[in-house]
Amino acid sequence: MENLAEGLVVVDKNAKFLVFNDRAKEILGTGPTEESPEKWPEIYGMYSFKDEKMIAIQDFSLMKAMRGETVLGEEILIKNGTSPQGVYIRINAGPIMVGDAIEGVVFTFVDMTKERQVDKAKTEFVSLASHQLRTPLSAINWYSEILLAGDAGPLNDEQKKYVEEVAVGNRRMVELVDALLNTSRLELGTFIIEPKPIDTVSLVKSVLGELKSDIAKKKQVVTEMFDEAIPQFSADEKLLRMVMQNLLSNAVKYTPDGGNITVGVSVGTSGSHVDEKVLEEDSLVFSVADSGIGIPAGQQDKIFSKLFRADNAKESETEGTGLGLYIIKSIVEQSGGAVWFTSKEKQGTKFYVTFPLGGMKAKAGTKKLD
Ligand code: ADP
Repeated sequence: MENLAEGLVVVDKNAKFLVFNDRAKEILGTGPTEESPEKWPEIYGMYSFKDEKMIAIQDFSLMKAMRGETVLGEEILIKNGTSPQGVYIRINAGPIMVGDAIEGVVFTFVDMTKERQVDKAKTEFVSLASHQLRTPLSAINWYSEILLAGDAGPLNDEQKKYVEEVAVGNRRMVELVDALLNTSRLELGTFIIEPKPIDTVSLVKSVLGELKSDIAKKKQVVTEMFDEAIPQFSADEKLLRMVMQNLLSNAVKYTPDGGNITVGVSVGTSGSHVDEKVLEEDSLVFSVADSGIGIPAGQQDKIFSKLFRADNAKESETEGTGLGLYIIKSIVEQSGGAVWFTSKEKQGTKFYVTFPLGGMKAKAGTKKLD
């Protein structure tokens, strides 16, 4: 056990150490001391990415594994005496059961700091590359507009068709580059959330307005269900607009011609139901329901993952990045809200976004999302 490549810690049911191997001491930068051989080493703070809060390693053991839960591959940032910037560890923990009784807990962990640094470097590279790509894309946009407007002389029909293709392709590229840039800003945590009181119903109506021609082309029927007295709501207008744009444009995109889309804004009181969920506090509830292709049951758990597109979506709509929902989930959760959906294949999908009525949480940063 001493020679394992992983850190290994075993405690009994009173959280007293039975094993604390050398690698564990190396990774944590500390271990049980002679003065207090039974106590957890002083760990100044651990940041759990899953729960997004600081926890102490002893709470981690007692809370989870002592309840009989198994913790698999949770990534945690530990700040300790020897490395104040922190060490990322990936930890597994499981109870030692004797019959039905929990007699202790086994922890194993590995140091993930290097992998995290590589990940961050990759994200920074994507951020830099997409930023650089924008300038030439703006030039293509600019010059194709000049050509289409006939400012450089008249185009014949064939030439016009080709330049239009250039412009459409370019627009797609701009969308992709912006999505990549936003993704990297969200992952690097550098984006800003600046809530101000806004009228959310007007915002939703304005997003619907932008989609008007797509909706008309597909002859879809849109129903608006806005509560009568929606209070002013403190939101980062640009971010909330991105959220609603993504949900509504998906509803239009993934609903066949003649289908129905219902968009709602309402106030939900604490304890009331939104579909199957119970609200924990008074909330503003946005909903977008469609009668479209739906999301296959077997792929629903992956739908918010980066670059994921369900098989039926890829079939019905070849264009798409699979970044939109990933981006909006990150925006919504980092501003204190929640987003989820219910869906049945070939019947339709309902997306919900809720925020506490107090508004979106502000966040300092260096970059706005585009
Ligand atoms: P994109 O639409 O560019 O593929 P998103 O991140 O916005 O990317 O969505 C990810 C996937 O979620 C889509 O590819 C599709 O499989 C599924 N999806 C999202 N919204 C809907 C919807 N309203 N109806 C059916 N599937 C949807």
